[in-house]
Amino acid sequence: MVTDQSEESRDSIRIGLSRISYFHNVAPAGPGICTVCRQPSRSEMCDRCTSTRDALDGLTCDYTFFMSYTDGWNPSGRSQSAQTMRLYKSSQPPARSVTDVHLLTNIVTWIHDGCIRDTELGKEWDTATYVPSRTQRAGHHPVSKVTTNVARLVGDEPSENSARRISRKRIQVGGCDAPRIAAADRFAVPDRVRPSIEGKRVLLVDDMWTTGTSMQSAAAALKLAGATSVTGLCVSRWLAWNWEPHVPLLEKVTKQAYDPFSCIAFDRCCDVPRG
Ligand SMILES: [Zn+2]
Ligand SMILES: [Zn+2]
Repeated sequence: MVTDQSEESRDSIRIGLSRISYFHNVAPAGPGICTVCRQPSRSEMCDRCTSTRDALDGLTCDYTFFMSYTDGWNPSGRSQSAQTMRLYKSSQPPARSVTDVHLLTNIVTWIHDGCIRDTELGKEWDTATYVPSRTQRAGHHPVSKVTTNVARLVGDEPSENSARRISRKRIQVGGCDAPRIAAADRFAVPDRVRPSIEGKRVLLVDDMWTTGTSMQSAAAALKLAGATSVTGLCVSRWLAWNWEPHVPLLEKVTKQAYDPFSCIAFDRCCDVPRG
């Protein structure tokens, strides 16, 4: 039964959605789709994810979730999703792209918060962090804001004056500067952060998954620092029209309007959360 309150929530989602309807829903893991990175794949895990996992001795994310696909290198001109993500990742992201990314994150994590946790048998996270960027930026990296929002939404909205259950910690870029390579030493867990990682369940947030080597290398650094599990949550998964194996999937997902109720964890349609 849909209550008046959830009807109201649905309305506010529709308003937010009018701004971010240009993103695309992620295909559920299953036949033809890689369980890890949700690109087309003949086997359960695609070749790229397999080689990344092997290079990192299996110290990769235990689970990976994607809120959307970005439609890259569209032959008919730059798509809005690619434009937003490109600007968002630029050194001085315009407000509009930042707002849209936050809107997408807020809506999707709010609806599917319980679904993500159901996948992990209802266990909570202890610590939230994000994949740091090597490029210098003025001020805070916008993905740190996404992480804050996500941590707030995934079961961690403290009432006034009460403590947060999920702590937010920053990890750092490491000594190894090799953007396309899977290597744990691309990232470093500072000593003061270690107590929040060792023996803990970590939520790792990033804005874009292209090859997945950044997020998986950060997961490996966290696991080497003692994390018992790492959940990767990514705002968008980059698909490219100029990469032939992506084209049939892109043709399919770009035909449909973005539906935030389409689950990011299970092959189902969800409703607004109750309560
Ligand atoms: Zn994959
Ligand atoms: Zn869901």
